[in-house]
Amino acid sequence: MSLKELCFRFNFFYKLLPVHFLMKLANKSMILPFYHFVNDGENRLTRNLYQSKTKKQFIEDIQYLKTHFTALSINDLQLKKHSKNNFRFILSFDDGLANFYNVVAPILLEEEVYCINFLNSSFIDNKELFYRYKVNILIELMLKIKLSETKKESIIKLLELKKFNKKDIFKFLRNASIHQTTTLDTFAEIVEVSFSDFLEQEKPYMSKNQILELKNKGFGFGAHSKNHPRYSQLNLKDQLKETLESLLEINDLFSLKNNFFAFPFSDDGVKNEFFEIIVKEKMLTFGSSGLKDDEIETHYQRIPMEFNTIYSAETIIKGELIYYILKKLIGKHKTKRK
Ligand SMILES: [Zn+2]
Repeated sequence: MSLKELCFRFNFFYKLLPVHFLMKLANKSMILPFYHFVNDGENRLTRNLYQSKTKKQFIEDIQYLKTHFTALSINDLQLKKHSKNNFRFILSFDDGLANFYNVVAPILLEEEVYCINFLNSSFIDNKELFYRYKVNILIELMLKIKLSETKKESIIKLLELKKFNKKDIFKFLRNASIHQTTTLDTFAEIVEVSFSDFLEQEKPYMSKNQILELKNKGFGFGAHSKNHPRYSQLNLKDQLKETLESLLEINDLFSLKNNFFAFPFSDDGVKNEFFEIIVKEKMLTFGSSGLKDDEIETHYQRIPMEFNTIYSAETIIKGELIYYILKKLIGKHKTKRK
């Protein structure tokens, strides 16, 4: 467990402190919480990766945020529309899931919160499946089925294991990178899972028309790379290619005027050089390091709201603030990318 989560666990230390007091202490006026998925019963996408909130928990989060912060849209950020004494939040969702269209958007319309969703250009219209969702499906299956000896042998060979051991298999699946997608696909063939059938039947991603419909209702959209690689595993050239090509495709598809980009997973491994090159694109970029300052003025860190345990928005936001204030005391509150 991370130090930050440990902070959340001990929330009785800080939960009585008013959030505005902590915001002032941290010298902050805006927070950017983000989610992926809100659970509405069946969840075949993320269950083995992290805990997603139920509709009820999500609505409680939104109402907490609305009580203490003013909801801004991403365009307000670009216009730098702020009033000094007001605490604000900008909500975002990642990955462009159909769950956003079916479950999240109706809640947000009701609550009058207009968030931005960051899309992977390769996944729109269910053309491809994110490798982590493949991992989720394979873990789910391995927990349920009993494999024949032949299939076990094939898995041992594929993963170069000494013997068939579910613990090692889960370890491989959990740690698999995008460069191991072919292995995941072969694994799926062995256990007779078809990702293309899954895409066709479950339609986990939004279609172009659904995105356009939400855009017309006031939701914002931005890019989130083409197929969601970890940027720390890419060289600069590929980082730029993933970023600029996905942005171009998404802006073109949905006639978007602004350049908004959220790094897939995180901005770990993204150096100053990257930002120096993209500066001419007039792009606003977003990371996922929680409450943290950045040397790059056009780069904003967002607060992840999903963990392996469910924490309320109050616990997470106050915990992030406490963690930030403590880090500031030792000068570790700012990302340095030398
Ligand atoms: Zn993502």
